[in-house]
Amino acid sequence: MKMRTRIAPSPTGEFQLGNFRTALYNYALAKNTSGAFVVRVEDTDRNRYVEGSMERTLEVLEKYGIPGDESPLVGGPYEPYIQSQRLELYKEYAKKLLDSGHAYYCFCSKERLEELRDGQRKSGMAATRYDKKCLSLSSEEVQKKLDQGEPYVIRLNVPKDELIKVDDLVYGEITFDSNQIDDQVLIKGDGFPTYHFAVVVDDYIMNITHILRGNDWIPSTPKHILLYRFFGWEDRTPKFIHLPLLKELGSSKKLSKRFGAVAAMDFLKQGYLREAVLNFVMFLGWNPGTEKEIYSLDEFIKDFTIEKIGKTDLVVMDREKLLWYNGHYIRSLSVEDLMLRLAAWAQEHEIELPQADKKYHLEVLSLVHERMKTLSEFVPLTHYFYADPKVDPSLIVSFGGDESARIIKDLLSLYKAVDPKKWTSADLDELSHSYVTNGGYKTKQVFMSLRAAVTSETATPPIFDTLELLGKETTLRRLDSALARL
Ligand code: GLU
Repeated sequence: MKMRTRIAPSPTGEFQLGNFRTALYNYALAKNTSGAFVVRVEDTDRNRYVEGSMERTLEVLEKYGIPGDESPLVGGPYEPYIQSQRLELYKEYAKKLLDSGHAYYCFCSKERLEELRDGQRKSGMAATRYDKKCLSLSSEEVQKKLDQGEPYVIRLNVPKDELIKVDDLVYGEITFDSNQIDDQVLIKGDGFPTYHFAVVVDDYIMNITHILRGNDWIPSTPKHILLYRFFGWEDRTPKFIHLPLLKELGSSKKLSKRFGAVAAMDFLKQGYLREAVLNFVMFLGWNPGTEKEIYSLDEFIKDFTIEKIGKTDLVVMDREKLLWYNGHYIRSLSVEDLMLRLAAWAQEHEIELPQADKKYHLEVLSLVHERMKTLSEFVPLTHYFYADPKVDPSLIVSFGGDESARIIKDLLSLYKAVDPKKWTSADLDELSHSYVTNGGYKTKQVFMSLRAAVTSETATPPIFDTLELLGKETTLRRLDSALARL
């Protein structure tokens, strides 16, 4: 069967990694059966609407390579894909439920509803509910109020004393007591539908077969099931697949900026490669049950099955693992490709890279390639290849001790005498090692003092490779200036 899945983002802020995970799973499930992945924007909550959020969400899906087959950007057979442009349709469908008695007009004022809920709370009710007062209005009374232009909402008429079953393909059968379910507002006072109503109408109209979404939507699902039933669409009720929510490692909390990026777009901005984030996110709730950890998007599409989704409440997001993936994907690029990716990333996010010719950049990159875990590490890892660093003399002394000045001075005169043609890593290595041996020094004492003096860092690529690339002139200049400050 060809599946039709969807992601239905609400433009209320940045598209977070959890939503992105949900989009990826929906995408994979559809592609796995050559079905369609739909992107539908659910913008009916006008109070929470954030300008630009929809555009950024659509953009981030494109950037990661999982765009909708049907979406506000590319259209499709069920246009429009933005709910605020489908308002008439929801009114029509609400009318059907009013006619069949499964929905009713409610004219209760805000004040009455507040009083009612206050009273219920005081009497110890955990979740407050509307008392169906307006359900007893006669059709004449309703008509009169409508004619007088009284403000109203339309509510779902939830039946009493029923058990409503949700069959979830991950969590199994979950039963809800209808007495605990509020007569949900379907059409609000501003004429907009609520999420619960619009989601069902659109999933039905758009022929959605499978709904994958966060498990925080489980309590809403019985309302949706009732709507499918009241419309007579039981045989077209989509399959529900709820997904564990994400939490930070070492915290019981959901994703938090305190731990790093939260929005899917920000991971790219911070120098993670698209393929690394995708690979990492694949495992946030799904596991093939094998040792295989490296997955391309195509491989994931092939292997993704609902059965392999973990039946847990929360899934831990280990940011170290993401770094590991990113390092892996950076290392698997050629140095040329890495340079292209770096340049494109810097341009896109307006990050300034040091100026140099291509050959020099490539040489620098090949020295740090193994150690780079994110694109944003490039500048801090390589700054001293591009500009003389400010060296703190105490850093040199921390390795060279009382002999620091002597060591730097000796190295300076040794290196001065090197024939520029022999300014190679191997020659410098040999020369410097004999200096250590002849002087009775410890290797670390000399080489770390040298490293600190030339780079101001304690971790760099092999020091003589570094000196070779920096060149004789730069090395001497830096040793000289370090010596002057010791
Ligand atoms: N608009 C809802 C959201 O923002 C969609 C929930 C669903 O997938 O049904 O998450």
